[in-house]
Amino acid sequence: MIVMKFGGTSVGDTRAIERVAGIVTERLTQKPVVVVSAMAKVTDQLLTMAKAAGSGDRKTALKLSRELRERHYNTAGELLGTALFTEFHSDLGDDFESLDELLRGISAVGELTPRTTDHVAAYGEMLSSKLVAAALSAHGLLSTMVDSRKCIVTDNAHTRATPLFDETNDRLRAHVLPLLNSGRVPLMGGFIGATKAGITTTIGRGGSDFSAAIVGAGLDAEKIEIWTDVDGMMTTDPNICPDARRIKVISFDEAAELAYFGAKVLHPATVLPAIQKNIPVYILNSRNPSCEGTRIAARAPACRNFFKAIAAKRRITIVDVAAPRMLLAHGFLKSIFDAFDRHRIPVDVVSTSEVSVSLTVDSNESIPALAADLAKLADVKYEGRKAIVCLVGENLREVPGIAGRVFGELSDLKIRMISQGASEINLTFVIEEDAVPWVIQRLHRVFFSELDPAVFA
Ligand code: ASP
Ligand code: MG
Repeated sequence: MIVMKFGGTSVGDTRAIERVAGIVTERLTQKPVVVVSAMAKVTDQLLTMAKAAGSGDRKTALKLSRELRERHYNTAGELLGTALFTEFHSDLGDDFESLDELLRGISAVGELTPRTTDHVAAYGEMLSSKLVAAALSAHGLLSTMVDSRKCIVTDNAHTRATPLFDETNDRLRAHVLPLLNSGRVPLMGGFIGATKAGITTTIGRGGSDFSAAIVGAGLDAEKIEIWTDVDGMMTTDPNICPDARRIKVISFDEAAELAYFGAKVLHPATVLPAIQKNIPVYILNSRNPSCEGTRIAARAPACRNFFKAIAAKRRITIVDVAAPRMLLAHGFLKSIFDAFDRHRIPVDVVSTSEVSVSLTVDSNESIPALAADLAKLADVKYEGRKAIVCLVGENLREVPGIAGRVFGELSDLKIRMISQGASEINLTFVIEEDAVPWVIQRLHRVFFSELDPAVFA
């Protein structure tokens, strides 16, 4: 069997859901289990209405709920045709009645707890999974909606619950396998689960990819397909280099390094349960289903190119902290990181000398307050309009002299920080933001003009 997960845009409207039906039909012989997100933007809207209700604004909450009801009714009407829709209409209607009841309750109390938040948020996937299951059936596929709250068992850390894998795997086998064996297409909502006591939970925003991995790992899937609206991972940003190429296969570690730069495609950490079981994960494009996408594998195959990808992140600020009096003293770095911790500002790149440290942070963090705090320890300077450039590839581990080649190409560039180490598969440096386009273009020309056809499209 395989798992096919479709994200919010892939089930965002009638045409998108029809495409899903076509794509699933083509995979029928592989015994798919389908996992869907809520329709695009629905989770945000549900959280907005939950907050409105929590602040006592019942009217706004119910108005937003009406809009959501209309969108689902309209889509269902278009997908199902009159006869089926009439049947489905009352089922959907019951869900919206209970959502409204919930919103009224929240606004009467005027308090929104994480537990109630999950109750509201779960409607997105509950509705989309029913809708898509009905649409698949209307397309002649034997599809059955499986309530994820009966299968995905989690702890009670509401809004970011952690699955209890043993219990979950047992339940998945009990609920899903019989359907597969009778030739049906089980269809589940991502993102949602329930505690052992049956209280609805959610597993964190963007959690449907994680759900797909949980289902795939629990049922020993042959592969997991994550259907999105891009062709897969690219050698670099095509807006900077129009000749950027698709990466056919990338290791989990490489993909994890790149996740920080291109959050649009999935965050690999969410598919870890699958990778740990050596189940390959594919990123595929539901608008271009014949494209073979990107495969994320536990280990990368040999590649003749040094790198898999070049990425850049702009809007970075460098914070320089220098304390000559700290020469040979211990505890300097700790006191600096403590300050970042107190201000809850994450640090990305670090480089140090005996008496100074340079760190990068996102420019939209509140840096002046941090700097004032750090100034009690040392001399502090900070400077915005910087960018992090990162080259990723497993070959960095093995092949000597790669850093020399990279910086040789950039000998006319002012480089502010350099970092290689830690994961051993990335070479990271910090430059002026304005230099990003030509730096990426030049490196891409040098390192990606001849591509290993086994790895790149
Ligand atoms: N619908 C959820 C969200 O928007 C989960 C997902 O789409 O992955 O966060
Ligand atoms: Mg997503």
